[in-house]
Amino acid sequence: MTVAVPSVAVMGVAGAAAASVMGGGDDSKDGTTTVAAPDAAPVKPSHANNKLDSQLAGLSADAGDFADRASRTQERIDLKQRQEAEKERKAKEAARKEAMRPKFVIPVKNHALSARYGQAGVNWMSLHTGIDFPVSYGTPVMAATDGTVSTKYDTAYGNMAIVTAKDGTETWYCHLSSNKIRSGQVKAGDVIAYSGNSGNSTGPHLHFEVRPGGGSAVDPIPWLQSKGLHIG
Ligand SMILES: [Zn+2]
Repeated sequence: MTVAVPSVAVMGVAGAAAASVMGGGDDSKDGTTTVAAPDAAPVKPSHANNKLDSQLAGLSADAGDFADRASRTQERIDLKQRQEAEKERKAKEAARKEAMRPKFVIPVKNHALSARYGQAGVNWMSLHTGIDFPVSYGTPVMAATDGTVSTKYDTAYGNMAIVTAKDGTETWYCHLSSNKIRSGQVKAGDVIAYSGNSGNSTGPHLHFEVRPGGGSAVDPIPWLQSKGLHIG
């Protein structure tokens, strides 16, 4: 079986067994035909078994995949629920903070006054239209209300900032040395500027006015009192 020997190596174990069972190939000079014929029959079931095995393996893998996917889906659901709970917690915390924060603030930390509303004085052409805080140059000035900031220069008021609240109330901050916020939204208590001595002023102080609806100035003291802030 001179030809069959190298063929066995190629065909594998099933083919070699079949070849030895057939036996009769010894006489044939054409070894390839003798070996090739039995080769087809015994290999088939082995191939089929392999196919079945791989199908079973595939099914098992699918089942594993499914379990894996189901577990990942559950993880995603859990994550989403956790994220939603966290979002809700944060929203509640933000709402609580918003409810707790002061909506009205006295514009400087030191609440002592050097001049009241309605006083007559050499610096004022008419009666005093605001209150004066005798704070030193560069003292942080805070927005008294939530609102929108604007700034301008006035020969009497000097550098000034105006905060317009949602209801139209304007609060004026005058004789400033500089502005920190020149425009945009602010919240009560935000530092918007620094006090100074600009305009018609004889020394560093903050002149503060309240103008409901952007109209005439009112006495800031009872206005602040109506917001729960007591000074003077
Ligand atoms: Zn003043």
